[in-house]
Amino acid sequence: MTEELPTYILTLYPDPLLRRPSEPVSSFDDELEGVARAMLARMHESNGVGLAAPQVGLQRRILVMNPSGEEGDDRVLVNPEILERTGAETMHEEGCLSFPAVYAEIRRPDRCKVRFFSVDGVEHTEEFSGFSSRVVQHEYDHLEGVLLVDRMSPADKVRNKQVLQDLVARYQERRKREESPA
Ligand code: ZN
Repeated sequence: MTEELPTYILTLYPDPLLRRPSEPVSSFDDELEGVARAMLARMHESNGVGLAAPQVGLQRRILVMNPSGEEGDDRVLVNPEILERTGAETMHEEGCLSFPAVYAEIRRPDRCKVRFFSVDGVEHTEEFSGFSSRVVQHEYDHLEGVLLVDRMSPADKVRNKQVLQDLVARYQERRKREESPA
């Protein structure tokens, strides 16, 4: 059986779409399942460990992840809510598919307890720790319109200055092309 899945294009910084808070999902149907599978496909093609709906232009509270990179470890969290963040804060390098070639040491609590729905509409509460917890917190930020640059230390901002400026320049180029098609 072959199925047509949408092919998503990544939304890159500083596209304002990344700043819009996402809306809760209200219907758990085939369309949602298709979106989740297409998001997972995009994430794997881009060698990412997590992806949030705003990164493919959708203002919906959906995040997908596979922190281990192992086949069969794909996760989909719909309408996630972080109930609590606990544990020691740790620094770890993070990247983001919306910020190609940008890396920064980000401080986050080690554990988080999350309530979410699976694509079939079943409610779950799960505790994440270590790298999985970091991925959940990073992707959850996207649903709130919070980005890597907001959590970067001033030193990392300086270190990534050129790459960030290039991303802004490329975005402006794209906008210009869209506004005045040849
Ligand atoms: Zn990201």
